[in-house]
Amino acid sequence: MKIFSACLATETNTFSPIPTGQNDFFTVLNDDIVIGAHNFDEIPPFALWHKKALARGDEFIFSLFAFAQPSGLTTKTAYQTLRDEVLTELQIAGPVDIVLLYLHGAMVANGYDDCEGDLLYKVRSIVGPEVVIAVELDLHCHLSEQMLKQSDIIITFKEYPHVDIDARAEELFNLAIDTQQKKCGPTMAMYDCHMMGMYPTTTREMRGFIAAMTEAEQQEGVLSVSFAHGFPFGDVPEAGGKILVVTDNNIPLAKSLAKTLGRQVFALRHGIGFPTLPQEEAMTRATSAIALRGCSTTANESEQKPVVIADQSDNPGGGAPGDATYTLAWLLEHHIQNVGMAIFYDPQVVRLAQAAGEGAQLSIRFGGKLGVTSGSPLDIDVTVGMIKENYQHRFPQIDPATCQESKPVYWPVGDTVALHCQGIDLIVSSERSQCFSPCIFGDFGITAKEKSLLVVKSIQHFYGAFAPIASEVIYMAAPGAVPPIVQQIPYKRVNTGDMYPWIDSPLL
Ligand SMILES: [Zn+2]
Repeated sequence: MKIFSACLATETNTFSPIPTGQNDFFTVLNDDIVIGAHNFDEIPPFALWHKKALARGDEFIFSLFAFAQPSGLTTKTAYQTLRDEVLTELQIAGPVDIVLLYLHGAMVANGYDDCEGDLLYKVRSIVGPEVVIAVELDLHCHLSEQMLKQSDIIITFKEYPHVDIDARAEELFNLAIDTQQKKCGPTMAMYDCHMMGMYPTTTREMRGFIAAMTEAEQQEGVLSVSFAHGFPFGDVPEAGGKILVVTDNNIPLAKSLAKTLGRQVFALRHGIGFPTLPQEEAMTRATSAIALRGCSTTANESEQKPVVIADQSDNPGGGAPGDATYTLAWLLEHHIQNVGMAIFYDPQVVRLAQAAGEGAQLSIRFGGKLGVTSGSPLDIDVTVGMIKENYQHRFPQIDPATCQESKPVYWPVGDTVALHCQGIDLIVSSERSQCFSPCIFGDFGITAKEKSLLVVKSIQHFYGAFAPIASEVIYMAAPGAVPPIVQQIPYKRVNTGDMYPWIDSPLL
């Protein structure tokens, strides 16, 4: 069997001021693998797909991995160039049996609201109706009719934080093989839940809903169930939460199950969003807890752990700049010490620190540079800590078979430095990245567990690795580019008139 594979992915924040050009994509070509410049382990889920294909004796053709950190609109040239690279490789490959694609599902380019729908249409045009097209998507996708029409199987992640990239990739691979061998005939249907929001799957309600999806997958004739949460920062008509069901040659079952599960998750709508607090309230709560603990002689081990605050509004993973200074300014103003903060994006400051060297004292103008949502730059005196070139941050993953931590996803953050300022340790990078794990501190000689307070620029992906070392996790809505309260997002094209939370009537 001949399997063709590719990845073309980014998550487009249509409100972001930062355009996504071709150079913003981290790309790996087949030649890079052949000469050893990169390997499949760096680009999940291709390591898994490659291994499984080889174990079966299949021919595995890898064409392109192109992934850009979420930002603003992708340029037309970047999208068309990368898309055409995949299509050209597909044509060169000749007849194939399966096309496996790892896409995001929320990529928007100038002139293309639905990049994935366009790509799938063109892939289908090349391979014809008989070849199996199987797609893995991030759950923060704008699932579209075009995507369903042009592919055979779509599976999204179930988990947020996304610790199940490989688990879903494995299901997709197995289903694609079964489909090609005519052991099943996938039919898909989706149901629009009329919801916009972000839904961490770490809550009791969402654990229950994931269990319901998994249980539904055990039903006779059901091949896969996904909940595409949607991506609130993409202002396109297809945005919003949708249930996708894949059945074995049974459209009525796919439709009825999608509707049942869609209504089930809609019924949970009041309890599955983030319990986010405004900055003043979040910071006061955190610092009061820390002060209280400081006075206590009986604080137990759990209370001695740091409070972790998620600066959700400046999450580069949602397209924000990552250089907002509101929270740092608050901490300096209130003389709060023993704090760790990560990850700030400020390449100019990184260069200055590199030039000065470890241990140097610097007066710098820090952060607040990329837009009005970043706040003001802060003029601060810092000591340069550890410096690392081309640092890779680790996003821990869970092995579904053992429920143990498995091989992490490595995230390029560029040159990265630690700066120390009035009892606050700042991790600063030359590439934008959200914060996934306390290793961002440990790798720079800072013991995260001994801090009173950790502030991480992330909406939810930090949670899996930080929650175990936290006495409390607080979700915070400081000012910023990706406000976690969706009613604050200035939509022009999403029809919020028939969508929760703008209206709150039951689904018809
Ligand atoms: Zn996502």
